[in-house]
Amino acid sequence: MKDLKKILDMSDELDHFCQRLKLIKENYNLMPGENSIIIIINCLDDHCTIVSSYIKRELQSLFSTSHKDASKTITVDAVYEKRLFGGLFLPEVKTYESLIPAVHHIPAKKDRKVLVLNFTHIGYNAKNRKWGNFIRYGHKEPSHSCGAVQMLFKRIIEGRELPADHDLNRLGSYLASIAKKYNIKPVKSGKDILQLTYYAYKENLPWIKDQLRLLALEEKTDVIYLGGLEIDVNKGESGVLNDRIAVLDNFYINSKGVRMVEEA
Ligand SMILES: [Zn+2]
Repeated sequence: MKDLKKILDMSDELDHFCQRLKLIKENYNLMPGENSIIIIINCLDDHCTIVSSYIKRELQSLFSTSHKDASKTITVDAVYEKRLFGGLFLPEVKTYESLIPAVHHIPAKKDRKVLVLNFTHIGYNAKNRKWGNFIRYGHKEPSHSCGAVQMLFKRIIEGRELPADHDLNRLGSYLASIAKKYNIKPVKSGKDILQLTYYAYKENLPWIKDQLRLLALEEKTDVIYLGGLEIDVNKGESGVLNDRIAVLDNFYINSKGVRMVEEA
Protein backbone atom coordinates (compact mmCIF):
# COMPACT_ATOMS: atom_id res chain seq x y z
CA MET A 1 0.00 0.00 0.00
CA LYS A 2 2.95 2.30 0.75
CA ASP A 3 4.13 1.68 -2.82
CA LEU A 4 0.70 2.46 -4.20
CA LYS A 5 0.63 6.09 -2.98
CA LYS A 6 4.02 6.96 -4.41
CA ILE A 7 3.95 4.75 -7.45
CA LEU A 8 4.39 7.63 -9.94
CA ASP A 9 7.26 9.16 -7.95
CA MET A 10 9.10 5.88 -7.64
CA SER A 11 8.72 4.99 -11.33
CA ASP A 12 11.56 5.37 -13.83
CA GLU A 13 11.52 6.88 -17.28
CA LEU A 14 12.22 4.18 -19.85
CA ASP A 15 15.76 5.47 -20.39
CA HIS A 16 16.55 5.17 -16.70
CA PHE A 17 15.01 1.75 -16.59
CA CYS A 18 17.27 0.64 -19.44
CA GLN A 19 20.27 2.03 -17.56
CA ARG A 20 19.22 -0.23 -14.71
CA LEU A 21 19.32 -3.13 -17.15
CA LYS A 22 22.82 -2.11 -18.14
CA LEU A 23 23.95 -2.39 -14.50
CA ILE A 24 22.32 -5.81 -14.24
CA LYS A 25 24.10 -6.87 -17.42
CA GLU A 26 27.43 -5.85 -15.87
CA ASN A 27 26.77 -7.21 -12.38
CA TYR A 28 25.68 -10.61 -13.60
CA ASN A 29 27.89 -10.78 -16.70
CA LEU A 30 24.94 -11.31 -19.03
CA MET A 31 25.85 -12.07 -22.62
CA PRO A 32 22.54 -12.74 -24.37
CA GLY A 33 22.82 -15.35 -27.06
CA GLU A 34 25.92 -16.79 -25.36
CA ASN A 35 25.31 -17.46 -21.68
CA SER A 36 21.85 -15.94 -21.26
CA ILE A 37 18.47 -15.06 -22.67
CA ILE A 38 15.96 -12.34 -21.79
CA ILE A 39 12.30 -13.10 -21.21
CA ILE A 40 9.71 -10.32 -21.24
CA ILE A 41 6.32 -11.20 -19.73
CA ASN A 42 3.78 -8.49 -20.54
CA CYS A 43 0.27 -7.86 -21.91
CA LEU A 44 -0.88 -8.42 -25.49
CA ASP A 45 -1.87 -4.73 -25.70
CA ASP A 46 -0.35 -3.05 -28.78
CA HIS A 47 1.08 -0.30 -26.59
CA CYS A 48 2.95 -2.89 -24.50
CA THR A 49 4.46 -4.02 -27.81
CA ILE A 50 5.70 -0.46 -28.40
CA VAL A 51 7.27 -0.36 -24.92
CA SER A 52 8.90 -3.79 -25.17
CA SER A 53 10.19 -2.98 -28.67
CA TYR A 54 11.80 0.15 -27.23
CA ILE A 55 13.44 -1.87 -24.44
CA LYS A 56 14.66 -4.41 -27.00
CA ARG A 57 16.20 -1.66 -29.13
CA GLU A 58 17.92 -0.20 -26.09
CA LEU A 59 19.20 -3.62 -25.10
CA GLN A 60 20.57 -4.03 -28.58
CA SER A 61 22.53 -0.79 -28.29
CA LEU A 62 23.72 -1.71 -24.77
CA PHE A 63 25.04 -5.04 -25.93
CA SER A 64 26.28 -4.04 -29.36
CA THR A 65 29.48 -2.43 -28.02
CA SER A 66 30.97 -5.86 -27.39
CA HIS A 67 29.27 -7.51 -30.35
CA LYS A 68 29.89 -5.70 -33.59
CA ASP A 69 29.16 -8.58 -35.91
CA ALA A 70 25.66 -9.00 -37.27
CA SER A 71 25.15 -12.59 -36.13
CA LYS A 72 25.49 -11.57 -32.48
CA THR A 73 23.23 -8.56 -32.94
CA ILE A 74 20.47 -10.80 -34.28
CA THR A 75 20.91 -13.16 -31.35
CA VAL A 76 20.64 -10.27 -28.93
CA ASP A 77 17.37 -9.28 -30.56
CA ALA A 78 15.94 -12.74 -29.92
CA VAL A 79 14.19 -11.80 -26.70
CA TYR A 80 11.61 -14.39 -25.68
CA GLU A 81 8.28 -12.60 -25.34
CA LYS A 82 5.54 -14.14 -23.28
CA ARG A 83 2.37 -12.20 -23.97
CA LEU A 84 -0.39 -12.77 -21.42
CA PHE A 85 -3.51 -10.69 -20.75
CA GLY A 86 -2.61 -8.11 -18.09
CA GLY A 87 1.00 -9.36 -18.17
CA LEU A 88 -0.04 -11.75 -15.39
CA PHE A 89 1.55 -15.17 -15.06
CA LEU A 90 -1.55 -16.54 -13.33
CA PRO A 91 -1.30 -18.79 -10.26
CA GLU A 92 -2.27 -22.41 -10.99
CA VAL A 93 -2.66 -21.52 -14.70
CA LYS A 94 0.75 -20.57 -16.10
CA THR A 95 3.76 -22.67 -15.08
CA TYR A 96 7.52 -22.64 -15.50
CA GLU A 97 7.12 -25.27 -18.22
CA SER A 98 6.01 -22.55 -20.65
CA LEU A 99 9.37 -20.80 -20.13
CA ILE A 100 11.53 -23.87 -20.75
CA PRO A 101 11.61 -23.35 -24.57
CA ALA A 102 13.31 -19.97 -23.97
CA VAL A 103 15.93 -21.20 -21.55
CA HIS A 104 16.62 -24.58 -23.13
CA HIS A 105 18.47 -23.08 -26.09
CA ILE A 106 21.03 -21.00 -24.22
CA PRO A 107 24.29 -22.14 -25.88
CA ALA A 108 26.47 -22.11 -22.70
CA LYS A 109 26.58 -25.34 -20.72
CA LYS A 110 27.75 -23.65 -17.50
CA ASP A 111 26.90 -20.34 -15.76
CA ARG A 112 23.64 -20.04 -17.64
CA LYS A 113 21.45 -17.06 -16.81
CA VAL A 114 18.01 -15.81 -17.65
CA LEU A 115 16.78 -12.26 -17.08
CA VAL A 116 13.01 -12.09 -16.58
CA LEU A 117 11.23 -8.74 -17.01
CA ASN A 118 7.60 -8.90 -15.91
CA PHE A 119 5.19 -5.97 -16.17
CA THR A 120 1.53 -5.51 -15.50
CA HIS A 121 0.41 -2.30 -17.21
CA ILE A 122 -1.89 0.60 -16.32
CA GLY A 123 -2.67 3.93 -17.96
CA TYR A 124 -2.29 7.29 -16.23
CA ASN A 125 -3.86 10.42 -17.66
CA ALA A 126 -2.04 13.43 -16.18
CA LYS A 127 -4.67 15.80 -17.66
CA ASN A 128 -7.33 14.63 -15.21
CA ARG A 129 -5.06 12.63 -12.87
CA LYS A 130 -7.07 9.54 -13.59
CA TRP A 131 -5.68 6.03 -13.46
CA GLY A 132 -6.68 3.34 -15.93
CA ASN A 133 -6.64 5.31 -19.17
CA PHE A 134 -4.33 7.35 -21.38
CA ILE A 135 -4.29 8.95 -24.84
CA ARG A 136 -2.66 6.60 -27.33
CA TYR A 137 -0.67 7.49 -30.44
CA GLY A 138 -2.98 8.89 -33.12
CA HIS A 139 -5.94 9.26 -30.73
CA LYS A 140 -7.59 12.37 -29.32
CA GLU A 141 -9.55 10.67 -26.56
CA PRO A 142 -8.20 8.46 -23.77
CA SER A 143 -8.79 4.72 -23.78
CA HIS A 144 -8.51 1.96 -21.20
CA SER A 145 -5.21 0.42 -20.11
CA CYS A 146 -5.23 -2.42 -19.30
CA GLY A 147 -8.37 -2.91 -21.40
CA ALA A 148 -8.69 -6.59 -20.50
CA VAL A 149 -8.46 -5.93 -16.75
CA GLN A 150 -11.06 -3.16 -16.93
CA MET A 151 -13.48 -5.11 -19.10
CA LEU A 152 -13.30 -8.01 -16.65
CA PHE A 153 -13.62 -5.78 -13.56
CA LYS A 154 -16.77 -4.21 -15.04
CA ARG A 155 -18.29 -7.67 -15.56
CA ILE A 156 -17.34 -8.69 -12.01
CA ILE A 157 -18.95 -5.54 -10.51
CA GLU A 158 -22.09 -5.97 -12.61
CA GLY A 159 -22.29 -9.67 -11.74
CA ARG A 160 -22.17 -10.64 -15.42
CA GLU A 161 -20.74 -13.84 -16.85
CA LEU A 162 -17.03 -13.89 -17.60
CA PRO A 163 -15.92 -14.35 -21.24
CA ALA A 164 -15.79 -17.92 -22.56
CA ASP A 165 -12.22 -17.45 -23.83
CA HIS A 166 -10.03 -19.58 -21.55
CA ASP A 167 -7.35 -16.97 -20.81
CA LEU A 168 -9.79 -14.12 -20.19
CA ASN A 169 -12.01 -16.39 -18.12
CA ARG A 170 -9.15 -17.44 -15.82
CA LEU A 171 -7.91 -13.87 -15.52
CA GLY A 172 -11.47 -12.79 -14.64
CA SER A 173 -11.69 -15.39 -11.86
CA TYR A 174 -8.31 -14.27 -10.52
CA LEU A 175 -9.30 -10.57 -10.57
CA ALA A 176 -12.60 -11.39 -8.85
CA SER A 177 -10.63 -12.99 -6.00
CA ILE A 178 -8.35 -9.92 -5.75
CA ALA A 179 -11.32 -7.48 -5.78
CA LYS A 180 -12.99 -9.51 -3.03
CA LYS A 181 -9.89 -9.85 -0.85
CA TYR A 182 -9.08 -6.12 -0.97
CA ASN A 183 -12.71 -4.98 -1.11
CA ILE A 184 -12.12 -2.98 -4.31
CA LYS A 185 -15.17 -0.96 -5.39
CA PRO A 186 -15.55 1.27 -8.48
CA VAL A 187 -14.48 4.92 -7.97
CA LYS A 188 -14.26 7.71 -10.55
CA SER A 189 -10.60 8.60 -9.93
CA GLY A 190 -9.56 5.21 -11.31
CA LYS A 191 -7.86 4.36 -8.00
CA ASP A 192 -9.90 1.16 -8.03
CA ILE A 193 -8.06 0.12 -11.20
CA LEU A 194 -4.72 1.10 -9.67
CA GLN A 195 -5.48 -1.00 -6.58
CA LEU A 196 -6.70 -3.92 -8.68
CA THR A 197 -3.65 -3.80 -10.97
CA TYR A 198 -1.19 -3.42 -8.10
CA TYR A 199 -2.61 -6.26 -6.01
CA ALA A 200 -3.10 -8.48 -9.05
CA TYR A 201 0.65 -8.11 -9.67
CA LYS A 202 1.66 -8.47 -5.99
CA GLU A 203 -0.54 -11.46 -5.19
CA ASN A 204 0.91 -13.19 -8.23
CA LEU A 205 4.49 -12.81 -7.03
CA PRO A 206 4.84 -15.83 -4.67
CA TRP A 207 3.61 -18.05 -7.52
CA ILE A 208 6.01 -16.64 -10.09
CA LYS A 209 8.92 -16.87 -7.64
CA ASP A 210 8.16 -20.51 -7.07
CA GLN A 211 7.82 -21.21 -10.78
CA LEU A 212 11.12 -19.45 -11.52
CA ARG A 213 12.77 -21.52 -8.78
CA LEU A 214 11.55 -24.68 -10.54
CA LEU A 215 12.81 -23.30 -13.87
CA ALA A 216 16.23 -22.61 -12.30
CA LEU A 217 16.43 -26.15 -10.94
CA GLU A 218 15.22 -27.94 -14.05
CA GLU A 219 17.30 -25.94 -16.54
CA LYS A 220 20.32 -25.43 -14.22
CA THR A 221 20.25 -21.71 -14.81
CA ASP A 222 20.42 -18.61 -12.63
CA VAL A 223 17.35 -16.37 -12.78
CA ILE A 224 17.37 -12.60 -12.36
CA TYR A 225 13.91 -11.09 -11.99
CA LEU A 226 12.78 -7.49 -12.35
CA GLY A 227 9.06 -6.80 -12.20
CA GLY A 228 6.39 -4.23 -11.49
CA LEU A 229 4.05 -1.87 -13.28
CA GLU A 230 4.39 -0.33 -16.75
CA ILE A 231 2.68 3.06 -16.53
CA ASP A 232 1.34 4.16 -19.93
CA VAL A 233 1.01 7.95 -20.16
CA ASN A 234 -0.56 10.37 -22.68
CA LYS A 235 1.12 10.61 -26.05
CA GLY A 236 1.84 14.08 -27.36
CA GLU A 237 2.93 15.36 -30.76
CA SER A 238 6.64 14.82 -30.11
CA GLY A 239 6.51 11.07 -30.60
CA VAL A 240 8.87 10.61 -27.65
CA LEU A 241 8.10 7.42 -25.75
CA ASN A 242 7.34 8.84 -22.30
CA ASP A 243 6.00 5.78 -20.48
CA ARG A 244 7.36 4.79 -17.08
CA ILE A 245 8.30 1.61 -15.25
CA ALA A 246 7.76 1.20 -11.50
CA VAL A 247 10.07 -1.62 -10.41
CA LEU A 248 8.42 -3.25 -7.41
CA ASP A 249 10.49 -6.41 -7.12
CA ASN A 250 13.99 -7.53 -7.94
CA PHE A 251 15.37 -10.91 -6.93
CA TYR A 252 17.96 -13.47 -7.92
CA ILE A 253 17.66 -17.24 -7.80
CA ASN A 254 20.75 -19.37 -8.37
CA SER A 255 20.77 -22.61 -10.33
CA LYS A 256 20.34 -24.61 -7.10
CA GLY A 257 17.00 -22.90 -6.55
CA VAL A 258 18.21 -20.67 -3.70
CA ARG A 259 17.08 -17.03 -3.65
CA MET A 260 20.16 -14.94 -2.96
CA VAL A 261 19.15 -11.29 -3.16
CA GLU A 262 15.79 -9.71 -2.65
CA GLU A 263 15.13 -6.01 -2.95
CA ALA A 264 12.48 -3.64 -4.20
ZN1 LIG B 1 -3.49 -5.09 -21.22
